[in-house]
Amino acid sequence: VSVLNIIKHKGSRIVSVRPEATVAQAVAVLHEKRIGAVLVRDVRGALVGILSERDVVRGIVRYGAAVLEKPIRALMTANVVSCTPRDDVRHVMEVMTMRRVRHLPVTEAGTLKGIISIGDVVKHRLDMAQLEVNVLRDYARSH
Ligand code: AMP
Repeated sequence: VSVLNIIKHKGSRIVSVRPEATVAQAVAVLHEKRIGAVLVRDVRGALVGILSERDVVRGIVRYGAAVLEKPIRALMTANVVSCTPRDDVRHVMEVMTMRRVRHLPVTEAGTLKGIISIGDVVKHRLDMAQLEVNVLRDYARSH
């Protein structure tokens, strides 16, 4: 199953913030949208980083309460690892495990298509497992 299948189901609304916005603004977005990370895009819409809850925790340790007024640029990870819509979900799981990240932006020919989280992957795996159980149960019943 490909990444496209998953982002198609969850809809493709892409939440992003500007690098010059404050950490306080980013935290409000994370809370409001109930997400763990947000993509950082410049004025022209280019992907310039990703900011996750983990970066905020790190920022609190580093700056204390003053972190809230820092620009997102100061805390985000600029070197973003992404995947494509054609990638297999298994591949995405491998990348997330090896890189220790829980979010991967989905890009195709330089355009942002969405974002896939570890939660999306887990949900997909559970759906698949449930489907398998149902199929096997039906088979057992009819034999
Ligand atoms: P997460 O596990 O997604 O909450 O993120 C853990 C750390 O990895 C944070 O410092 C994030 O900024 C960073 N991170 C998350 N996703 C990515 C990604 N796709 N590429 C690069 N870094 C990432």
